[in-house]
Amino acid sequence: MTNAFTWVFLIALGLATAARLWLAARQIRHVRAHRDAVPRTFAEAIPLGAHQKAADYTVAKARLGMIDVLLGAAVLLALTLGGLIDWLSAQWSRAFDPQGLWHGAALFATVVVLIAALELPLSLYRTFVIEAQFGFNRMTPKLFVVDLLKQALLAAALGLPLLILVLWLMAKMGALWWLYVWIAWMAFNLLVLLIFPTFIAPLFNRFTKLEDAGLAGRIEALLRRCGFRASGLYVMDGSKRSSHGNAYFTGFGAAKRIVLFDTLLSRLAPPEVEAVLAHELGHYRRHHVWKRVALLFALSLALLWGLGQLIGEAWFYDGLGVASRGTAVALLLFVLVLPVFTFFLQPISSLYSRRHEFEADAYAADHSSAAELVKALVKLYQDNAATLTPDPLHSAFYDSHPPAATRIARLRTT
Ligand SMILES: [Zn+2]
Repeated sequence: MTNAFTWVFLIALGLATAARLWLAARQIRHVRAHRDAVPRTFAEAIPLGAHQKAADYTVAKARLGMIDVLLGAAVLLALTLGGLIDWLSAQWSRAFDPQGLWHGAALFATVVVLIAALELPLSLYRTFVIEAQFGFNRMTPKLFVVDLLKQALLAAALGLPLLILVLWLMAKMGALWWLYVWIAWMAFNLLVLLIFPTFIAPLFNRFTKLEDAGLAGRIEALLRRCGFRASGLYVMDGSKRSSHGNAYFTGFGAAKRIVLFDTLLSRLAPPEVEAVLAHELGHYRRHHVWKRVALLFALSLALLWGLGQLIGEAWFYDGLGVASRGTAVALLLFVLVLPVFTFFLQPISSLYSRRHEFEADAYAADHSSAAELVKALVKLYQDNAATLTPDPLHSAFYDSHPPAATRIARLRTT
């Protein structure tokens, strides 16, 4: 049943897997080689012990990442050429009409649950071994289970109706189904963006109004300077799960909220918090969020059109070793196999994201203070044990943020 596409798929999977492992090995080697000296830019601010902790943490995460890559490739092969999708499809055929909507939805959902279950040991190891070993984990086993149940219920409540709608549109809307699915997908994404701050985020964290009047006054002054309106300043109990700190904006229009992690507030001085927020404001003011959404929509339209072309082609299913046919199988194969090919576009997306980070930093330097942002970044790199000496190629390939030294050097010259 195999054909030329089988070889295209296997070669792409082999290359992507080898490239991922090679980049991880480079990262480990590079970080280790620079473990014993703090880079000059940070020599005064970061002690050697903290630098070594960051190196060990980066190496531990990269090693787990390598196992994840191998597991992902093995699962993908088992599902496709290994015949697991066909087997699952046959099992569900005993309960549902194999051509029907419910059969497709059950098959798709089973594969999603299966992959999540296989990833679970890695997630447990990450949280309770690596994060705990480096002193970041605040998650209890009970909270882990509660989070998992909430995530599963949320995924079922939002994901299942979407899946059923998509499969129904694919079956009923004729040759232009991909256009209808795209519209449904856009509407779903906008809906999630809209309900996230008020309905989804509070399921996992508590949000309280920022009490510190001094800091609130400082932030309000910054917002006025930047001509930005937000409906509230909130503090989130991020410390419930981890000691990593962060800040973000959420929602649209006048309903925008600013969320600060309690872990960030406990570590940064008010002028530093202001500089971090000014950076986040820069992302808004330079329209990075909308640019990203527009790009996602354009890309999903192109991909759905592509699936529209593949869905009727026997070589697509045969090439992946799958005998079952139908809309759900096509969608499933497409979603599973696509990342193998899009992996090679990762450096472009990382480059785009790093450009936005530089723009947001420049905005913060203009509207707040470059020096305070540098101080805040140094503290955050140290607290999060982020490596200051990433492998340049690994960083160029994956990193959404510029390397610490480059970013700080640029802030110091503005
Ligand atoms: Zn940013």
